[in-house]
Amino acid sequence: MDIRDNLRKIKEELPGHVKLIAISKTKPEADIMQAYNSDHRMFGENKAQELIQKQPDLPEDIAWHFVGHLQSNKVKYLAPFVSMIHSVDKLKLLKEINKRAKNEGRVIDCLLQFHIAEEESKFGLDLEEAKNLINSEVFPELKNVRICGVMGMATFTEDKEQIRKEFRMLKNTFDFLKHGYFEDQDHFKEISMGMTNDYKIAIEEGSTMVRIGSAIFGERNY
Ligand SMILES: *Cc1c(COP(=O)(O)O)cnc(C)c1O
Repeated sequence: MDIRDNLRKIKEELPGHVKLIAISKTKPEADIMQAYNSDHRMFGENKAQELIQKQPDLPEDIAWHFVGHLQSNKVKYLAPFVSMIHSVDKLKLLKEINKRAKNEGRVIDCLLQFHIAEEESKFGLDLEEAKNLINSEVFPELKNVRICGVMGMATFTEDKEQIRKEFRMLKNTFDFLKHGYFEDQDHFKEISMGMTNDYKIAIEEGSTMVRIGSAIFGERNY
């Protein structure tokens, strides 16, 4: 199966309000260009180093989404061009993004990443931590970041009910934050959830952004 066919099939079945981020990690630039040439513009990577390497060789009008764990010392390399950072899980990171965005004369769109999976290893905030972040003294002063919603990754499991439960929890978290803190902010509207194996469930549970890699580009060989 070819990348263009994969992309077209997925796009045909996505509801109009759901954005597709093509996750191109580990894949060569030629693969990205195949998707680009079939008019796709939103791509995602999960490693800063890899994204920094690929970005200069690829068209400037690609909207790059950063979806992996981000260390503060890498933010400065992404700040000139990144379109959205899905993985804000600490105030310290958000402050660094704000600082580097300001240096670039930009406002960078961010999502708060929540820990919804059973696995210990997945990064992300819980609701208490998110409230503390939002209620912190500096938060209102961070004018060069724009919080656009939430992101989460479900447990890697065959248990569809488990996955659904976790996505539902993320949707509830989104609703709680929206009504509690972001009611008057129209840009707080994104729920980034759903990958190759679970994006259909994610959409049923309210996803507005799906992050799909293998179903577009094929299996990854690490
Ligand atoms: C790799 C990755 C994806 C895409 O995974 P697939 O299962 O290949 O669709 C989505 N989100 C994040 C954060 C990832 O690291």
